[in-house]
Amino acid sequence: MFKRKFYIPDNKIPKKWYNIASDLPEALPAVLHPLTRVPITPEDLSPLFPMEIIKQEVSTERFIDIPEPVLDVYSLSRPSPLIRAYNLEKALDTPAKIYYKYEGVNPAGSHKVNTAVAQAFYNKSEGIKRLTTETGAGQWGSALSFAGALFNLEIDVYMVRVSYNQKPYRRALIESYGGTVTASPSSRTEAGRKILAENPNNSGSLGIAISEAVEMAVQRDDTKYSLGSVLNHVLLHQTIIGNEALIQFDLADDYPDIVIACAGGGSNFGGFAFPFIGEMLRGGKSVKSIAVEPFACPTLTKGVYEYDYGDTAHLTPLMKMYTLGNGFIPSSIHAGGLRYHGMSPIISLLKKLNLIDAVSQKQVDCFEAGIKFARTEGILPAPESTHAIKTAIDEALKCKEEGISRTIAFNLSGHGHFDMSAYSDYLNGNMSNND
Ligand SMILES: *Cc1c(COP(=O)(O)O)cnc(C)c1O
Repeated sequence: MFKRKFYIPDNKIPKKWYNIASDLPEALPAVLHPLTRVPITPEDLSPLFPMEIIKQEVSTERFIDIPEPVLDVYSLSRPSPLIRAYNLEKALDTPAKIYYKYEGVNPAGSHKVNTAVAQAFYNKSEGIKRLTTETGAGQWGSALSFAGALFNLEIDVYMVRVSYNQKPYRRALIESYGGTVTASPSSRTEAGRKILAENPNNSGSLGIAISEAVEMAVQRDDTKYSLGSVLNHVLLHQTIIGNEALIQFDLADDYPDIVIACAGGGSNFGGFAFPFIGEMLRGGKSVKSIAVEPFACPTLTKGVYEYDYGDTAHLTPLMKMYTLGNGFIPSSIHAGGLRYHGMSPIISLLKKLNLIDAVSQKQVDCFEAGIKFARTEGILPAPESTHAIKTAIDEALKCKEEGISRTIAFNLSGHGHFDMSAYSDYLNGNMSNND
């Protein structure tokens, strides 16, 4: 009998996050104030985030302890499984070994809860009662609403209008966990009203929804803002994924040559790949990491590396990152979680230094890969995650062509059970080949 799944014994469960800032060959460029363009101070960020999170944002300590109450919630679903995809390998007739880490087992169905729980905990500890946030496809909004339910925080979610209309069950999930949802752009904020005045049919973007959530957060002392990706502390919290995977590869007596994850703002790529990249930066085994983005929103592969705002109304600080421009509105692809104009500054720096690779994939090809995965391994992946699967299949087929075996690992960031209308579109041939 071959071994398919790798479990971590209780006494080996990781109790720390990994901070890649400690191992970067160059310091990260300063983050600039949106009005003065001088480097921001912790005080500048304090209307938006609790102090403990601001400290993590600028920390260069290598490992950061995960608080006990956060570990306690993690234990509902973590450690997540590392699974060898034997059936997929066989279907591809490849000499490659393919593994995937499955984050769809988490509450709300994706990796996002790993940081949602930590952010809810730190805000609660500093006396905050309410969090505002944006969501694309709704995974982040539902993860934060779940965390809000556990730590007794009100969650106010601005949901990109196209997803609000495409994914009514995600909305219902957010509401089931106790969050409230507003379609963005909305008339509740200055930023939203301005955009609606220009175009009442604006389908929204993450950049616009962020502007609305930030605007609402700064108006009340008991309210702060929470971001589901991009920022250093978010990627830090997600490294629980890669830290577990390192132990699981030890148990499998194997090590990846290639690690792959899709990238919207970069939290699931960073969370999975950073612990492996860290090993490499400290002189350990080398690894090729591939960030996969949609053809319709090719930030790393077609964007420019320059200072840009995180949002459309220019309320957030300026970060040096790969960007398509803060006004960029991608086409309405189903992978709503990947429709962001910018990218994590850490991932951007790694790309600039050629320490990671990036590719883009077309939507139809990704759905085809997702269906192949469902028909071999059984899990129906989130549209976002299909980008990683498509790239893993490409790499496995390259191994076949070259007649060599490589170990390929990808992060299956979530399940697709709330994305059935997207799968219907694909199966009924209603998906454009242009995206
Ligand atoms: C949000 C999301 C992503 C992409 O977000 P990142 O910020 O790049 O992590 C990928 N997969 C799923 C299932 C998501 O919900």
